[in-house]
Amino acid sequence: MALIVHKYGGTSMGSTERIRNVAKRVAKWHRAGHQMVVVPSAMSGETNRLLGLAKELAPSKASPSYERELDMLAATGEQASSALLAIALQAEGLESISYAGWQVPIRTNNAFTKARIESIDDARVRADLDAGKVVIVTGFQGMDDAGNITTLGRGGSDTSAVAVAAAMKARECLIYTDVDGVYTTDPRVVPEARRLKTVSFEEMLEMASLGSKVLQIRSVEFAGKYRVPLRVLSSFTPWDIDIHEEAVSGTLITFEEDENMEQAIVSGIAFNRDEAKIALRGVPDKPGIAYQILGAVAQANVDVDMIIQNISKDGKTDFSFTVNRSDYAKTMDLLRASVIPALGVVDLEGDTKICKVSIVGIGMRSHVGIASKMFRALSEEGINIQMISTSEIKTSVVIDEKYIELAVRALHKAFDLDQPTAD
Ligand code: ADP
Ligand code: ASP
Ligand code: MG
Repeated sequence: MALIVHKYGGTSMGSTERIRNVAKRVAKWHRAGHQMVVVPSAMSGETNRLLGLAKELAPSKASPSYERELDMLAATGEQASSALLAIALQAEGLESISYAGWQVPIRTNNAFTKARIESIDDARVRADLDAGKVVIVTGFQGMDDAGNITTLGRGGSDTSAVAVAAAMKARECLIYTDVDGVYTTDPRVVPEARRLKTVSFEEMLEMASLGSKVLQIRSVEFAGKYRVPLRVLSSFTPWDIDIHEEAVSGTLITFEEDENMEQAIVSGIAFNRDEAKIALRGVPDKPGIAYQILGAVAQANVDVDMIIQNISKDGKTDFSFTVNRSDYAKTMDLLRASVIPALGVVDLEGDTKICKVSIVGIGMRSHVGIASKMFRALSEEGINIQMISTSEIKTSVVIDEKYIELAVRALHKAFDLDQPTAD
């Protein structure tokens, strides 16, 4: 008998019929002798609907406690789906109980709308499991030290599930979703994308951070930190398929590099439409300038992603960086208000119609010429590269948003990702 955590995403929980299907699948695992903790997302569209209602009443931050109320509101989505799943399991003849994050409790810091999990007390859940119950724990939420409900950022139910699996030392955390695993790129954009049977933890971390939303990045970080066996698989297979077949389906996130395995040089392509570019032209080229610009941005709690500073000419240089699109207006206002006047005459330009496309693969460590192959493929499509950043296992470029699909398709082909591999 093993402890297993299942997580079901919004589409998988999208209707009572689907919830019944989830209940039947979970019941199958329970009857096979496993202790089951299930972490559901809100029914698809529900989180957007709730946050949309808040926006109707106050389009932007109306008070310092606005985000507290957003979390109070959004957390209801998971509370509803969790109770529905417990009811569906009871209807299957199982004993089941659902808990909101604060009831477990899952403790987080107080960064409303993007809180981080700090600890999980598993005593209550464990007692229920030992009494033979299937325990449902709401995804996406927790409680801060003051007892406020917090949420973990969009897509955060993945993180709840992996954190619960880590805290309870589960044998495996299975992430059930609307695709049957992790693909070489988003299969909705490139139909030729192939499912990966395994993907290394490091590659998955890069893909998640670079925009592949199949797993929330923090869930991958947790899996790495606590070595949680993690698998992404489909909730749309018939619920009664053979459990042994199901247990090895989808994509397994692996932690050990198999020395003998022939690594694909590039394993996947990620893309992200969430960034915006900001350029300051004619900035004085002297010590402390980067700090003056980015220090102010960091103080406003804005994360900066790519940064480029050009070689200076006549003591002046250009300085560009990217931020999340949701932080764009705030950052431009801040630069106009304090940084630009302090730096003297500089030109400020912004562009929200950009995207970032990245190639990811641990094989890039041991091969040269990969970035140039990427640049060639983009140039053959007439796509101009605006910014570049690299790390050991990825190369990212910023391009005009209108070329995103063309770029992803071209790179997918250039790196032969549509070709079957031996694994
Ligand atoms: P859930 O509601 O189950 O959490 P998400 O919508 O958050 O599901 O994530 C699944 C989606 O991620 C898929 O429908 C797919 O469009 C998208 N996706 C993006 N990149 C990839 C990838 N490399 N492999 C698989 N799916 C991907
Ligand atoms: N319901 C939340 C969201 O839509 C969390 C999740 O689905 O993982 O972002
Ligand atoms: Mg998700």
